Amino acid sequence: MRQYCSVCKDHLEMTVVSDTSEDGVIWLKCPRCKGILPYMEDVEGEEDAASGAEDALDEIDISRAVPYDPSRDYEVGDVVHHRGWDDYGVVIEKVTLPGNRQTIRVRFSEHGVIQLIVGES
Ligand SMILES: [Zn+2]
Repeated sequence: MRQYCSVCKDHLEMTVVSDTSEDGVIWLKCPRCKGILPYMEDVEGEEDAASGAEDALDEIDISRAVPYDPSRDYEVGDVVHHRGWDDYGVVIEKVTLPGNRQTIRVRFSEHGVIQLIVGES
């Protein structure tokens, strides 16, 4: 399924991670940045995560940041550094998707809340 990734700034062929979530959202995985994003009809607009983004960075202790790696596991409260985006975020929730895939929801200072796959072998 082809979708625009606002992180990679490109249209990419994405893998469907889940089309059965209870809220009806189709989750796609970007092959380039490995981010999980909801399927949207060609939306070009920037997310309004930019507002309040500067406050968020103040709350993040980047000295204890660990690089994001899909093969690792993370706990709520962990500080994650996404190297592809050069952005820091805090794990706010752990979510198990259908098919027993583990994901974390991370509030990034620049990109807003993003769902990322973890614990992938
Ligand atoms: Zn991407």
